[in-house]
Amino acid sequence: METKKPSFETQAIRGQTERSQFSEHSTPLYLTSSFVFDDAEDMRASFAEEKEKNLYSRFSNPNTTEFVNKIVAMEGAEAGYAFATGMAAVFSTFGTLLNAGDHIVSCRSVFGSTHTLFTKYLPKWNIETSYFKVDEVDQIENLIQPNTKILYAESPTNPAVDILDLELLGAIAKKHNLLLVIDNCFATPYLQNPIKYGADVVIHSATKLIDGQGRVLGGVAVGNADLIREIYLFSRNTGPAMSPFNAWVLSKSLETLVIRVEKHCENALKVAEFLEKHDNVNWVKYPFLKNHPQYEVAKKQMKLGGNVVAFEIKGGVEAGINFLNAIKMCSLSANLGDTRTIVTHPASTTHSKLTETDRLEVSITNGLVRVSVGLENSNDILKDLKQALESR
Ligand SMILES: *Cc1c(COP(=O)(O)O)cnc(C)c1O
Repeated sequence: METKKPSFETQAIRGQTERSQFSEHSTPLYLTSSFVFDDAEDMRASFAEEKEKNLYSRFSNPNTTEFVNKIVAMEGAEAGYAFATGMAAVFSTFGTLLNAGDHIVSCRSVFGSTHTLFTKYLPKWNIETSYFKVDEVDQIENLIQPNTKILYAESPTNPAVDILDLELLGAIAKKHNLLLVIDNCFATPYLQNPIKYGADVVIHSATKLIDGQGRVLGGVAVGNADLIREIYLFSRNTGPAMSPFNAWVLSKSLETLVIRVEKHCENALKVAEFLEKHDNVNWVKYPFLKNHPQYEVAKKQMKLGGNVVAFEIKGGVEAGINFLNAIKMCSLSANLGDTRTIVTHPASTTHSKLTETDRLEVSITNGLVRVSVGLENSNDILKDLKQALESR
């Protein structure tokens, strides 16, 4: 018999744990902090890891195991661990893999809190980070030092949706014996699998498209079994575990990931094409628009372009603020990857504390607007964006 693994969609839907004695069709919620043992020998053998058994929900729980196993299968990884948030996954990965005095080479365009980790907290352990800009990948090898341990990047980046060539990053990491860690949040496991290109650990904020409905926070790290074992031991002792309830919500969310993400991408492409033609827009960036500087790379490594569109409104900061004020249907919110379309203006909000020069380092111009395109009827989204662009 053929032992081919189930397809992505089927894995997302059917990758379910065992049922309880009640034979429920949908996975039950195992809201328990600990588990019981039959006798002293069962308990001894379980703690000695001679058998696979749940001991305590900080270590594992049937709901978190189900969620993790689905992501492991979807990313083509060997193992994984689920965290309370995406940042818990990022911090625990660095906390595990780095020793005092190690060095990181990272793309400068990373999630804000990850950058704060690099600049404010990791230096406490004498861990420094060197940065390359999205259009300076040819500089990466010059940044590598004898103590460099990790090469780190996100693709597409937030908020400017730049694309980094994962195949190139994988080759550099391999040549210099670095661990390649990729935050795959914007792509989801459906659109892009960095392990194929040599990533050792792949991180997701499950808060975004994996939940996709703006309800719960979560994070996950998957990858090579030996590294994940270390990340697991670090985490079971330091306590950033995902709650069983959030794992239950997120595992259910995965059942609809494919159809949601396909629709998100279809709507996002329509938004990008609409914005491209609008007179009050200087430029639009979307991975699957032909004028994206990394269009060919995006096509190579992503199934579809994702749900985030970046564009520059004419008129700078003031125009950006006016645009937000004129929005009627879409939400002004810090989240992304929700069923509801969300618009943000980074220069006046999330990145307002940076100087204009520092903002430009991460491709944030004064008029940059980020749209996380949702699942509403695309005509309604376009109508709202159009009237907001034209109200001045
Ligand atoms: C949101 C986000 C994170 C952090 O995730 P939380 O769940 O909010 O902690 C990390 N990386 C990227 C790219 C994100 O968008």
